[in-house]
Order: sequence, then structure tokens, then C-alpha cells
Amino acid sequence: MTPNQVPLAASTPCPRCNQSKSVDSLTGRCTACYPIQLSDLEPSIQDYARSARWQKYKEFLVMFSLGPVSIGIILFYSSRGKGISPLLFWLVVIATPVLMGASVYSLFRKRQSLVRYYRLGQVSRFVTAIDAQLQYEAQRGRYPHCYFRVCELAPGSNWPDSLGRKFEVDIPPRSQERAVKYNFWKRFFEGFDPAETPKLWAKVYFDPNQSGSALIRVADSIFVTKR
Ligand SMILES: [Zn+2]
Repeated sequence: MTPNQVPLAASTPCPRCNQSKSVDSLTGRCTACYPIQLSDLEPSIQDYARSARWQKYKEFLVMFSLGPVSIGIILFYSSRGKGISPLLFWLVVIATPVLMGASVYSLFRKRQSLVRYYRLGQVSRFVTAIDAQLQYEAQRGRYPHCYFRVCELAPGSNWPDSLGRKFEVDIPPRSQERAVKYNFWKRFFEGFDPAETPKLWAKVYFDPNQSGSALIRVADSIFVTKR
């Protein structure tokens, strides 16, 4: 066992519901009896949780309404005498309840995301950080992605296999992102590539559950791994 791992306390059953299924192994909180609220999270993590929640509802609404909207469009065109193949119509009619069911299913599956943010907010209290020099990389556009690349590790540190040397993080709020980028205009006028990002030393706290989930602290900013 490396110093970065703490033994996982065998989940003791919750005194209220006598179940250990929903007891968080890190903090011992029964998330069934005491559901995690947004306000239970560290303030900087609340921003991530808020944006994840917004994203979740947006995906739900789009997927849920896709079928009915398509049926509406088809009916609209048929009523104006434009020929729509009956096969297409029935395909859409059959796909609609499937899509609606899938959207509800995925909405409920994603309810767990608050528990994940809660754990990540607490993890620095329980594990020793790995010091790593990281470089930030943001891909903007319609489907943005943000990554960190590990450049160097502090002597004696081991990077766990559960997380690759380049890993994706949740899209950070602009206030957090500022810490890992150069000042664009300053960089531009100095004649450097403004899109380049600095290599910065960070503290990385891994969830002891070996999932590869981690919280990254760079100066005062916080980042969380995508999974
Ligand atoms: Zn309970």
C-alpha cells in the first residue's frame, strides 16, 4: 500500500436505515437517508455540480422531445399534402417511446453525480496529494473538452494506472480556468503562441476507491476528472 491510499473502512450500516448500500465509504454518510444537497459541496465544486445539472436537464429535454417534435413536423408536412413515406412515419412513432424511456433512464442514472462531487470535495481530507507538473489543454467548439497532461512528477511519486498520463476534466468555469492559462493578450504582445499553456505544479488527490477519479488543485483553482 502506498502512502497515497488509505484503507477503505468497511462500510458500517447506517444507524437510521440499517443498510450499508448507500453509505459513502469515504465519509460514512448514508446518502439515502441524508441525500447530498448542492450546498453540502465546497463552493468551487458547486459550480461544477451546477453546470453538470444544467447539462443533464438539457440532454433530457432534447432527447425527450425529439420524438414528439419529429412526429409534429411529419404531420405538419403531410397535412400540407407533401408526400411523407408511411414507413418513416411509423419508424418515428416506434422510436418515440424508446427515446422517451431512455431519456428518463439516463436522467435517473445521472443522479449519482452529486455523490461523486461530494466525495471529490472531501477527498483531500483523507488522502495525501501527488505533486505533479501538469499542462492544460482546452478544445473549444461545439463539443468542448478539457484535458491535463502530466509532464513531470515530484521525486518518489507514483502516478496511479487508473488515470492515464493525459486525462479529461470537467469543463471548468472561467474563473477556475484562468489559473492554468497564460494571459492571452499579454502573451500575444510578447510574441508567443497565445494558445500555449504553462506547465504548472499541481496537487492531485485521488479517490482511494481506485476509480481514477481525482481532484486537482492548481494554486486556488480546482478541477475534477471527468469520471
Ligand atoms: Zn441510511
